[in-house]
Amino acid sequence: MNKKVLVFTETKASALRQVSLEALSLGRRLAGEGTLLAAALGSKAADYAPTLGEYGADQVLIVSDARFNEYQSDAYRHTMVRLIERTEPDVIIAGHTANMKDAAPGIAARLGYGLITDCTQVEFEGGELIYVRPIYAGKAFEKKRFTSGKMFVTIRPNNFKAEPSPADAETIPFEPGDIDLRTVVRDIVHKSTAAIDLLEANIVISGGRGVKKKEGFAPLQELAAVLGGAVGASRGACDEGYCDYGMQIGQTGKVVTPDLYIACGISGAIQHVAGISNSKVIVAINKDPEAPIFGIADYGIVGDMFEIVPLLTEEFRKRQA
Ligand code: FAD
Repeated sequence: MNKKVLVFTETKASALRQVSLEALSLGRRLAGEGTLLAAALGSKAADYAPTLGEYGADQVLIVSDARFNEYQSDAYRHTMVRLIERTEPDVIIAGHTANMKDAAPGIAARLGYGLITDCTQVEFEGGELIYVRPIYAGKAFEKKRFTSGKMFVTIRPNNFKAEPSPADAETIPFEPGDIDLRTVVRDIVHKSTAAIDLLEANIVISGGRGVKKKEGFAPLQELAAVLGGAVGASRGACDEGYCDYGMQIGQTGKVVTPDLYIACGISGAIQHVAGISNSKVIVAINKDPEAPIFGIADYGIVGDMFEIVPLLTEEFRKRQA
């Protein structure tokens, strides 16, 4: 393979998103001997160039402009289109994030790129690149391929390895020019103060209706702190007002793909399972031995989460001491 690949990187809380590094590593693989370009947007864009080089970028296109510090549809679409027109890549890769879910379809349609979203795997079959993506809420996978040479792919966080592949990255400033902004972001209200993003967390501990009240999440927060994980929830817990909907995992919430998912007081409804089925190891804690969650869990603990979770926290703490 000898392709020109352009990766759109993103930041969160002034740090590069992990999925952007995963996209770069995939980009390096697909570029082969070709060129891997990374685009970084925002007033601190230049700061990210060394890291993007470490992960294989040959060239980093820097759009050093405060208008890109927060995602804004018009500004991002305008500039992504300009960057693509200027670099004419064969393959475009971005994270399957809320922002890129918004931006990618319009850009692909406008510039005549094929679009495959939410990829969890890319493989070679008979000399062809095949893109694998989940369908039917994760119950099945479909394999797709592009029929033309212009490919736009979004990848699901946590499914591709981010592997350093040092390259001597050349930085190239890019001026987006005037942007016709039809809407502007006036304010961003962050509902969650969690340090670890649920979508990118390697360990997720979730609470369901079984937490019984807001304070019921406290033992889960403690376990998450000890393990370096993030805390999520079922819709049951959100509906009861025990936590914010930003924590909801499932078909109509976030789709997580951690190495370890611990479900506490969650029955395992199909809509919840849709958001966790790609986790590497699922542990369920539920006092009902017949709870459906045990049907998909790798390890099940039948018992009261308020007894078991603190025991786990204590045990992990001891092992870390
Ligand atoms: P419950 O089903 O009430 O289960 C609570 C569990 O806690 C029980 O199994 C009980 O045995 C256990 N428990 C109670 N006390 C304890 C204790 N002390 N220790 C241990 N275990 C205990 N749901 C989602 O989660 N995410 C979605 O994205 C989502 N999208 C939906 C979309 C649609 C269109 C619809 C119709 C539904 C959706 N749902 C979603 C809702 C879903 O169907 C379930 O209602 C929901 O997942 C149930 O949440 P739960 O497991 O926390 O609650």
